[in-house]
Amino acid sequence: MRRSSFLAATVPAAHGGLGVTSLHDLMVGVNRLARGDASTAIAVNMHLTGVLGAALLMDRSRTAGEEMAADVLRELLIQVGRDDKVMCFPLTEAGTDHTSPRTEATPTRGGYLINGRKTFATISPAADLFLPTVRVPKPEGGFLTATAVVPTGTPGLTVEDNWDSLGMRASGSHDITFTDCFVPTRFLIGQVDSYGSLGPGYLASAMMVHIPLLGAFLGIAEAAREYVVAEARIAKNPGHRSLSSRASVRLLMAQMDIALAECRGMLDRVSHLVDDLLNRPESNAPDIMTLHRAMKEVQCAKYVVNRRSVEIVDHAMTIIGGRAYLGRNILSRLYRDARAGGFMQPFSPVDALEYIGKVSFDLVSALE
Ligand SMILES: Cc1cc2nc3c(=O)[nH]c(=O)nc-3n(C[C@H](O)[C@H](O)[C@H](O)COP(=O)(O)OP(=O)(O)OC[C@H]3O[C@@H](n4cnc5c(N)ncnc54)[C@H](O)[C@@H]3O)c2cc1C
Repeated sequence: MRRSSFLAATVPAAHGGLGVTSLHDLMVGVNRLARGDASTAIAVNMHLTGVLGAALLMDRSRTAGEEMAADVLRELLIQVGRDDKVMCFPLTEAGTDHTSPRTEATPTRGGYLINGRKTFATISPAADLFLPTVRVPKPEGGFLTATAVVPTGTPGLTVEDNWDSLGMRASGSHDITFTDCFVPTRFLIGQVDSYGSLGPGYLASAMMVHIPLLGAFLGIAEAAREYVVAEARIAKNPGHRSLSSRASVRLLMAQMDIALAECRGMLDRVSHLVDDLLNRPESNAPDIMTLHRAMKEVQCAKYVVNRRSVEIVDHAMTIIGGRAYLGRNILSRLYRDARAGGFMQPFSPVDALEYIGKVSFDLVSALE
């Protein structure tokens, strides 16, 4: 991926990347990777889509006259584009949601001290730059939200090497601890007054992460389907007929293909919809309610794709039979990997129903 510049795909061409801005195209690329290995696909997705968000934030900061933030982001993008650096974006913490980080940036001379613990930090073993979300205490009480830039090797930064999961085992989603990690003032970027609420920056970056990520879960389901088609033609049951000669197997196969068509249709539509929205010029940037309506569509697609990918692999296992349950069979890995989709915030299935319903009724204040 380094040699082919895939890791620099979302860096603007002027900074040494391939200049990809289309979520649809990224989704297709991540989807193809996931057919081979979903852990690799989600790991690179976290990096690529985070970098895309950084490029968007650089443009927005420049337009808003926030030169210091724009310059820092430009430097970081050059490090990815020209020096092959890898970024890791840990948001998740035990006991709180993504909009209310407890990892804190405490002001100190010349910068901030970062303290806290993040979980599920995908791609962390390969990362050169960590960009955790943090809270910054306000003098009058309460918090701002921001992102800190913590390079590997910063004293007090530890990748815990403790990822022990049901699936996505090669995604390197370890815990990260920050203990009095010093970052200079300019390395605290994107400070916003939206602690605990779904602000426009969070909505935009969440859509960027999740559309290609859903492509990965579709890829898992497609891999299961391909395996079954090949096996069902040759595998014999005790009657010495191929599995595909049985009507019940063909029925399950048809259900798998219908579910795949459903997922592909939703992802194609929603990726173009969000591409149109996020690639608008700054003068026509979407307002918060437009972002919520788009996010609702992303969540509808996520809800369906996360469920269908598990169902499709499950059907594949039913067709193949007991050997699909063995650890060495590809379907057991696909089944474990597919199960990860629903846990990805925002949103888990329970939270998604709540959110979709609120947006459906235009309950804007309930979302703030
Ligand atoms: C393979 C994998 C890779 C990941 N990679 C990353 C990554 O790179 N970066 C990252 O930041 N995160 C990552 N995550 C984390 C993911 O996005 C979720 O944050 C994580 O799974 C925890 O979500 P949760 O819903 O289980 O936890 P919680 O938010 O703790 O929720 C647990 C349950 O409580 C419910 N709940 C939550 N809040 C409330 C409330 N206020 N009231 C009532 N009920 C509530 C939820 O509906 C949920 O059912 C990854 C996860 C996985 C599985």
